[in-house]
Amino acid sequence: MFETERDTYLKRHGFEAASLKAVLFDMDGVLFDSMPNHASSWTRAMAQFGLHITPEEAYENEGRTGHGTINILTRRQWGRDATEEEWKKMYDAKSELFKQCPEAPQMPGACGLLQKVKAEGLTPVLVTGSGQLSLIDRLNRNFPGIFRKELMVTSFDVKHGKPAPEPYLMGLQKAGIRPWEGIVVENAPLGVQAGTAAGIFTIAVNTGPLPDQTLLDAGADLLFPSMQALCDQWEEVRRTFTATISI
Ligand code: CA
Repeated sequence: MFETERDTYLKRHGFEAASLKAVLFDMDGVLFDSMPNHASSWTRAMAQFGLHITPEEAYENEGRTGHGTINILTRRQWGRDATEEEWKKMYDAKSELFKQCPEAPQMPGACGLLQKVKAEGLTPVLVTGSGQLSLIDRLNRNFPGIFRKELMVTSFDVKHGKPAPEPYLMGLQKAGIRPWEGIVVENAPLGVQAGTAAGIFTIAVNTGPLPDQTLLDAGADLLFPSMQALCDQWEEVRRTFTATISI
């Protein structure tokens, strides 16, 4: 069913065949419906420092490290990067407001998809730009038995966050697989860029307010309107990427 998208991907990267072994999941906007909280925390926290960011811009920058997002704002308004002292203070303020938000619900369809992936013997890998320390507890509470600590990439693991390929390259490394043996599930343009730059087939799930075209322009190999839609069609996706083919 998704052979065309698969073959286009293989050809573009010069790979011979897909052989699915692991699925690399982004977290915010994919596993948790946490982006509304992030967007409002960004807007309110930056206002404390005289910096302006709209909720839409927060969505566009989703996946970037806090440091990276803050520098975009200070360069635009102050003409320079934030000092380490400044950006740490700003990111703390954002994190503090985020913590006060009501806990974001699971994304509908996320749990079902994770269970299918696990039951099929595929390896679930987490690749997030987040640096929340409570992350692992939260994942284990919401999705018990799915993610292993050694198969998580967080902001503590990488020097260059999304849209650089480093987080996903590290995800491949931790899972011990090559690009054509994985699939990335992402909701944000920068995350999609990171996944494709790592050479991995990247599925975009449009769970936010940005137009579909933004995700396709970022390089998404396949797009679903929601995690539930991806969950419902997962068997087809898996079949397409498990079949041994040569082009
Ligand atoms: Ca995300």
